[in-house]
Order: sequence, then C-alpha cells, then structure tokens
Amino acid sequence: MSQLTFLEGGDQGTSPVRRQYLDIKRRYPDSLLFFRLGDFYETFDDDARVVSAELDIVLTGREMGKGERIPLAGIPYHAAEGYIARLIARGHKIAVCEQLGAPVKGIMPREVVRVITPGTLIEDSLLSPRANNFLASLITSEDGAGLALVDISTGDFVATEVVGEGWQARMASELERVSPAESLLPQSQANGSAGSGLLPQGSFTTRRDDSQFSQAACERMVKEQFRVAALDGLGLAGAPLALRAAGSLLSYIRETRPAALGQLDGFHTYSLDGFMQMDAAARRHLELTSNGATGMVEGSLLWVLERTRTPMGGRLLRRRIGQPLLDVAAIDDRLDVVQELVDHPSARGALGDALSRAGDLERLASRAAQQVLTPRECLGIARALELVPDVQATLQGLPVILGQEGNNLDPCAEVLESINATIPDSPAAQPGDGVIREGRSQELDELRALSGDTRQWIAGLERSEKERTGVRSLKIGYNRVFGYYFEVSRPALDALTDEFARQKTGANNVGEMLESMGYQRKQTIANGERFITAQLKDQEMRLQSAQEEIQALERQLFAELLAEVAASAARLRRTAQSLARLDLVNTLAEVAVANRYVRPVVDTSTGLVLRDCRHPVVERMMPAGEFVPNDCDLSGSDAQIVILTGPNMAGKSTYLLGVALTVLMAQMGSFVPASEARVGIVDRIFTRVGAQHDVTSGKSTFLVEMAETASVLRNATPRSLVILDEIGRGTSTYDGMAIARAVIEQLHDEARLRPRTLFATHFHELAELEGSLERVRNQRMDVLEEGTQVVFLHRVVAGGADRSYGIHVAQLAGVPAPVVRRAREILLALETNGGSGVPAASRDQSTPGGPGQDVLDELLAMDLSTTTPMQAITTLHRLQERLRKGA
Ligand code: ADP
Ligand code: MG
Repeated sequence: MSQLTFLEGGDQGTSPVRRQYLDIKRRYPDSLLFFRLGDFYETFDDDARVVSAELDIVLTGREMGKGERIPLAGIPYHAAEGYIARLIARGHKIAVCEQLGAPVKGIMPREVVRVITPGTLIEDSLLSPRANNFLASLITSEDGAGLALVDISTGDFVATEVVGEGWQARMASELERVSPAESLLPQSQANGSAGSGLLPQGSFTTRRDDSQFSQAACERMVKEQFRVAALDGLGLAGAPLALRAAGSLLSYIRETRPAALGQLDGFHTYSLDGFMQMDAAARRHLELTSNGATGMVEGSLLWVLERTRTPMGGRLLRRRIGQPLLDVAAIDDRLDVVQELVDHPSARGALGDALSRAGDLERLASRAAQQVLTPRECLGIARALELVPDVQATLQGLPVILGQEGNNLDPCAEVLESINATIPDSPAAQPGDGVIREGRSQELDELRALSGDTRQWIAGLERSEKERTGVRSLKIGYNRVFGYYFEVSRPALDALTDEFARQKTGANNVGEMLESMGYQRKQTIANGERFITAQLKDQEMRLQSAQEEIQALERQLFAELLAEVAASAARLRRTAQSLARLDLVNTLAEVAVANRYVRPVVDTSTGLVLRDCRHPVVERMMPAGEFVPNDCDLSGSDAQIVILTGPNMAGKSTYLLGVALTVLMAQMGSFVPASEARVGIVDRIFTRVGAQHDVTSGKSTFLVEMAETASVLRNATPRSLVILDEIGRGTSTYDGMAIARAVIEQLHDEARLRPRTLFATHFHELAELEGSLERVRNQRMDVLEEGTQVVFLHRVVAGGADRSYGIHVAQLAGVPAPVVRRAREILLALETNGGSGVPAASRDQSTPGGPGQDVLDELLAMDLSTTTPMQAITTLHRLQERLRKGA
C-alpha cells in the first residue's frame, strides 16, 4: 500500500489523515513536524521544502485535486536520528509525531511525543561530548539582565544577573562565553530589542509568552521545583532577574522534557564579578576554544590543554578556560593540586589510566535521573564506579588533592552492586530479549528454564515424530503467522502406505495416515504440506506464555533497577563531577610537564613579570625548540606601557597574545609557558586589533576598531591588561599615528585607567613617546640586516625601531625586484625631502618633475647663510601660495 493514499482527496478534497496532520501541525507552528506514516517520517508543505533543502533529499509532491499540489519529503524512521541531528545543527526544532495504538475508524491515532530543540537534547548522537549544551533564558529590564543556564544532558543549572553601568556589554560577553544552543526570550523582547541584541550573532532563539517570565509565576515555579518556602537558600532572594530567568527556564523544560526536572537540584547562582572579564572580541582574538581562521579546536588554547581522559573533564576544561578567577587564594588552591600531580609522575599515570575507563559518567548520571538508561549504559555506570576505589587508592598518596576531593568521591557501592547483580555482561538492547542476569530472580530463571525446556522439547519432537510416523522427510519449522508446524514433502505425502499401516488406520497414503494420527493440514506449499498437532500447539502456547512472562518480568526488574539508580543519580553526579575535576588537574599537570610550563606566582600587585614566555599555541605548532621565548617586565608602578615596534611578520602579535594567554592560564589555575612568572591579578583582558577584516558585519572596519578602542578607554582599570595591536592602522598614516598617540597618552595619564598595556605598532615614530611619558617603555623586535635583506629574530629587545622595514617585507613576500628597487628610491626621497619631490620613475626621466618641482628647485637654490628671517618667511609664503594654486 502506498504511503500516500491518504493524500488522495476525500470529501472536500481533504482526507481524514490530511485533516489529522493539519490539526497537529497547527499546534506546532514553529517546529518541523515529523509525521509518522508506517516506516517513514513524512513532512509536508513548507516543512517538506525546508527538509528537502537542508538534507538534500528529494522533494516529491502529490496532486490534491483543484490543482493543489502538496510538497512532501520523507525519511525512513530507522535513519531518523542522523537527519534530526543535521536539522538541529541548522537551527530547526522538530516535533516527532508517532502512531499510537490501533486504528480508530480506519485512522491511526497520532500524537507528538516530544519536541526536539537544540537546547533540550540528551541523545549522545546529537551532542558534542566535549562541550556543554546550554539552554538559556534571558530577561532584561531597564538597568540589568538575568540569565539562567541549564544543560539537561548533565544536570548543570545556574543563574546570574548583571545590573548597573555597562550591564549590556557584560551580559553580551557572558553569552558569548556560554554560546547557548538555544535561548528563551520574552515575546516582547525577541525582535531586535534589548534581549536579542545581547545574544551572539546567529543564536537560536525561542520566543515565549511574556507571562512565562512574570515574577509571580517564576517564583511559584522555582519554589515548587526546589520544594522551598523561601528563595534565600537558592541565592535568588535579592535577584529578581535571575529568578525570572530560572523560573521561565523551568516552565519550558516542563513542557519539552519534564523528565529532566528531577535532576536539577544542584542549582546555584553565580556572579560575573568572581571571574576575569573578557568581551566577545577578546575571547575570539585570544582563540581560547577555537582557531580564528578555521573555527576548529585545533590551533586554540583548548587544543593545547586538551588531554582530558573523560568527556566531562573536557567540558570542565572548556568552562575553566572561559572563566579565569580573580581570587588569589582560590587560584593558589588550584595550583597546589596541579603542583602535587606534577611532583608525582606515577600518581599522574595511575590517575590517567583509571580515568580513561570512566566514560561520560556525568551524562549517564543525567540519563539515570531521567530513567532513560539503556542496559548497556547501566554497565557504563558500573564500569565507571568500579574505578573509583583505584582512584581513591591513588589519592591516598596525595594529601592535597585527597583533602579537596576525598569526600566527593562516592563509589556508590549499592548502585554498582545492583547493576552488576542485574545486568549481564553482554545485555540485549531491549528488556525481554535478555537484559537480566541469571541468578537475579528465581522466578525468571525458572521461566527461562521452562521456555528452554519447551524449546528443546519441540526440537526433540522432530526425531520422535519421525520415528512414530515413519516419515523420514518430516521436519519442524516456524513462522510468524502459524507458529510451529510440521512440514512434509509432496512425494512423501503421496507415498502409498504399507499393508500394516493400511490395516491399522485405513489410510491409503502417508498424508491420510498422518491425518488419522492427529495431524491437521494447515497450509499447502509448493512442494508439500504443513501440519500442526494439538500436542505441538499446546507446547507452543506454554512457550509463548513463558516468553511473555519473561518479557514482563525483565521489564519489571529493569524498571526497578532504573528507579533504584535514579534514586542515586545525585550521588552519581557528584562522583562524576569529582572525577571531572581530577581529570582536569591531571591534564593540566601532564601538559605542564610535557611543555615545560612553570607554576606562576599570582599576587595582588599590578606587576607582570615573565621570563622566557612563549605563545602556548604557536609554540606547539612549531618544531620543538624553534619558538623564541621572550621576557615581559611590567612592574606596573614604573613600567606600565610597552610600545613594541618592529616590521610586519617580526612576531609582535604573537608576543602580545602569548603574554595575555599566560596571564589567563595563570588565573585559571594552570602552569604557564614561561621559565618564571609573576602575575598581579588581572581583572579584565582587553585585546584590540587594528583594521581586522570584518566583512560579515558590514560595518567599516575602522569604525569597529575605534568603537572597540573607545570601550577600552571607558572600561579599563588599573588592574586590567590591555593588548593593542596596530591600533590606527585602518586609516591614513598621520591620522592613525595621531589616534594611537592620543590613546596611549590617555591610558598613561588618566588615573582611573593606567592599565598594564602592550602596544604593538609598525609606526616606529611612536617610540618617541618614551621620552615624554614616564611609564612608557620602548621595545622592538630584533631584526638582522644583511645588505638589503632582513632576518627576523623574533626577539624582543629594548629600544624603538628606527624604521618600518616595509620594503624588506615586500621583498620577502616576493614582490618583483624592479618594484622593490623603485620603492627604495621613493622611500629615500620621502625621507630626505620630507614628503615631496619624489623622483620620477626612471622610464620617464626625460619629462620634467611633477607639480611643485619648480618650488623645490627654488627652495634648494636659496642660500640660507644670507637670508634674514623676514626674507625666509616671505619666500615661504610665496612658495606656499604657488603650491596652493597648483603650480
Ligand atoms: P607581526 O605581528 O609582527 O606581524 P606575527 O606575530 O604575526 O608578526 O608573527 C609572524 C610569524 O612569525 C608567526 O606566524 C610565527 O610563525 C613567527 N613567530 C612569531 N613569533 C615567534 C617567536 N617568538 N619564535 C618563533 N617564531 C615566531
Ligand atoms: Mg601583527
């Protein structure tokens, strides 16, 4: 039967199934409706157009009478997960509509069983193992915003609010850090207004009715969820925006994935004030979790540090990179732990080995809470719990870590025992097919024995019936329609019975004889006949009922296990998080040893002193030993600003970013790529890059550059670290230099600012500033000149560059020799004549010089030793006039 019969016009040109479809679709207008029809999920109308375009599958259609044609695109249900993953990744929501029960009046009842949205995924195949999948709710007011985040695949649930000056920028950078998979916004704020404007470009948003965000509704929701009478314990008492964000999130989960609500009791509020601030531009520029050019993890800081053995450790690492701390004591605590593992290589190895068997216990704990574990996943939990004692044994030798993690490492022995006692070593996928271990239930074992016996008895029947009937070709078979049967071939049936048998049964041939012995004909096949007997059917029924009982019992026992594991889900989660932290510190220790990082000294000074600092990513991408390390000496009080001059490609940007990343690593509690490091806490890293190519935003790059620079001048503090890379490059030379200079002066003089600043520029003229500004230090990239060639040493040395080496770089880049020669000629003229009188190109040397040549000739002809000041002024005036008239 065709899948499409329902589309043939019925009354009024619309069939009942088409009406059913339209009814359901009306309730899910903003989702793609996957409508189950037999073995397919079909999509229709606009949904079909979208699905066909996104998945590159054929769009078919169907005439609907009256010239109406319904577009249709279908995917086989067994392959649906992959297609769904792709649609979700492209930002679609999917409502999955299944057939439920038996047909009513010839039509299958159908209902949407779940709505899959990017923020409510729990399927492993749809999730990235090493990143959280956050669903956010964002609410803004006149002077602040509240944000709640939940990852229902792990149970993480947090909320924060930002109020007061600069709240928009701070919330925007927090959202950039989190990069939610889906964000809920009040309907009234959804369109380009405050709320949606804060989200990163291309964010997936879901509009919700404003009433979902009301203070009263949210308070009720939150109190109900956490079974509390007051909000204080949750940290939400004085935080109405955070409360509204959290409450609205809960009501959305209640609609889309109610089973996920039970695991959210780890909720807490957090404050952005506890973490180093970085705006969106800085996060991208520092390439913390993805490489700017490729968008991949490879080539980012995360890539260098990513040696975690577990997915949950990987996710934690990613979060830590995004949230460096500000509190010296907390940072030291983290560093102590890393130090301990650096000092104990064998413990490091043992921990790494144990953790590599842990799997994703955190997501399993979340699935446990939602009671959606498969039998195999239960074993995954058991395997993870089994290694906890090994980890504990390792920690015995490590007093610092044991002190911090000892209590959290709960081996959940009863859970482990229950799983091991219930699930066999290689379980079937479904309850009923063998997911309960022998010995778990006497009743089950007996039923299995019975069904086994019966099966065997039936198998044995073939032999005994052959003997009893004397029919050697008799066979026992099975099919889904008839169950068990005897099969006898046509020639054997037609064979005549012998004298004795005929006497006894009156049968002339074997077929008749079998009937006289109780065989009932059931089916005629091409080459024989199928029979059943009462005895065979009787045994078959025993087998069937035993199997049904087995299935029911396995279901029940498995459900009991799931309930038991669910009851311990919170403990499993704590263990998982503890393993994640151990994984993280173990990783940081391994990376520190492998890359020769040192423990930084972090204090509350405004100093920044680094010896042999390297850019952690660039270093790793080069052959070992080729990266040239450099120092940084910012004491804060006497050296505040470094002006780093040097030609393009000399290594300025690399140096700046290396210093910034070292600071960030220190404050996240990692060892750093240097031989010695003292870092006075940095409250905020600003990075600004001149004239980046920002084609996507459509804004003038120079405008962007200046807007970003303005925000540094407004927001930096004496604790900040400011990285300015080629600011002013996006406009003409003098403009650019003027702006750069004014910015430096302001950062230097304004008491409110005075951040530690590294300013890289190829304007070598800016080195003059060292003379006039007290806390400015000149440094330059060392360059070796050999004739007209230059070699970049990538070494930072004291002093300013005396020129830009642009032509050398042009030469290095392969600009043809005549052009390079000519450029040198022009440069020389510019430098000696101060900007005019460039000699004409050699090929047209016969033509007189351009406009102003006569003015220059006259200037050169003046004898200054005999000219009075008055004469000089008059001459200059006359020459100027001539130039203005365009001589
Ligand atoms: P600039 O900003 O001065 O134009 P970059 O920082 O972009 O220069 O560096 C250019 C290239 O030089 C880098 O891609 C890298 O390959 C190399 N480089 C930079 N710094 C170093 C270093 N310290 N040691 C070795 N190679 C370096
Ligand atoms: Mg550069």
